[in-house]
Amino acid sequence: MPSEQADFVVIGGGPAGAAAALMLRRHVPGRRVILLEAGRHDRPKPGEVLPAVARGLLRQLGAWALFAEAGFVENRTLVSAWTKEQLSEKHSIFSAHGAGWHLDRARFDRLMLQAAETVGSEVRLGSAVCSATRENRGWRLKLADADITAQAVIWAAGRSWGLARHFGAKVIVHGHLAAYARFFDRSPGDCRMIVEARPEGWWYSADLPDHRRVVACLTDPDLGGGLRKADHWYRALAKTQFIARLLPAEARETVSLVKPAGTASVDPAAGERWVAAGDCLFAADPLSSRGIVHALRSGILAAYAASDMLEGREDLARARYSMIATQGFNDYVPALAAHYAAAARWDTPFWQRRLPLKETATARAGHSHFGRRGWVT
Ligand SMILES: Cc1cc2nc3c(=O)[nH]c(=O)nc-3n(C[C@H](O)[C@H](O)[C@H](O)COP(=O)(O)OP(=O)(O)OC[C@H]3O[C@@H](n4cnc5c(N)ncnc54)[C@H](O)[C@@H]3O)c2cc1C
Repeated sequence: MPSEQADFVVIGGGPAGAAAALMLRRHVPGRRVILLEAGRHDRPKPGEVLPAVARGLLRQLGAWALFAEAGFVENRTLVSAWTKEQLSEKHSIFSAHGAGWHLDRARFDRLMLQAAETVGSEVRLGSAVCSATRENRGWRLKLADADITAQAVIWAAGRSWGLARHFGAKVIVHGHLAAYARFFDRSPGDCRMIVEARPEGWWYSADLPDHRRVVACLTDPDLGGGLRKADHWYRALAKTQFIARLLPAEARETVSLVKPAGTASVDPAAGERWVAAGDCLFAADPLSSRGIVHALRSGILAAYAASDMLEGREDLARARYSMIATQGFNDYVPALAAHYAAAARWDTPFWQRRLPLKETATARAGHSHFGRRGWVT
């Protein structure tokens, strides 16, 4: 079986992995960086709304020019029926950061890998890492048809935590949630994202490049099983006040997906010559719209931490990185809880589970949200 050596291997080619590979090559240009991505970024994927604060991160990564050329849809208005049944609108013109974007996610992910290649990272698509074992001071990674040894690894495999036990990490599930999403084409553009709270959970829809639109219902997996079926999903959509109206008669469904979307984190955030980044480090509820920004930011920080590890500052790198990760998670928990509490006006299981712990019977029955108590897997 062929075997290769690299200074750094990045596992996963989403925004976190791409940012890490980019930053490693910019920070320590003489080092060999290999990025291994299991897929090919050729399928639709949810996670479309990129807040305007990403501009600074993309500039820091040297990916801004490529991004600006891509012509993604500007997010001019966020519309929500969240705290009450009426719509409220927030226009980007009143934001100091300006407008964010609605992405074609597969195209964005490919673009970030292209930027990583431009600075000399070796990107391998269709290369899933099956196992990781300690070797000398680094790691031996097994792929289906090859082995790669690395002095340090950045683990950015998104919500695929299959390698957790190989790195000696545990995954803590803080709250379950699933997204039942459908993509449509032939939809007129309006540069808007809309969020609507409903008794069963919440819905969102965003205008996407090329006259496409995504519509998704988010609810707990034990409550939303029926939404996998098209007739159930369309019946629930028809009951929404605002989201259903966004789809014109000529819109045609192209793809449907069901994705996990609850909050989860890994512990520790970094270990012996490895660092977790992006969703793999801490996967946020999509309501927070912070997943991609967190992925880019933690990818950058993971690159610094991993390069410090090779410079003999292992303990400092781990301690500093873990402290930043913990702070990020601690800021998120109350913000998300407050966001849900503001919309909770139904006596349904989804919203009951999101009331403060002491008020709910379901919480006593073991449902855990927003980090009060987690399940270790
Ligand atoms: C329904 C939904 C809506 C969302 N909406 C938004 C939004 O509007 N805005 C926002 O900012 N965020 C949103 N998010 C979150 C956002 O999509 C994620 O936070 C973001 O994709 C995380 O990036 P990542 O690089 O960490 O992981 P990913 O993008 O998941 O990338 C991880 C990559 O690792 C690869 N991989 C996995 N295992 C292996 C392996 N063993 N070997 C090699 N490769 C592997 C995968 O193929 C994948 O490409 C949403 C999420 C969901 C579920």
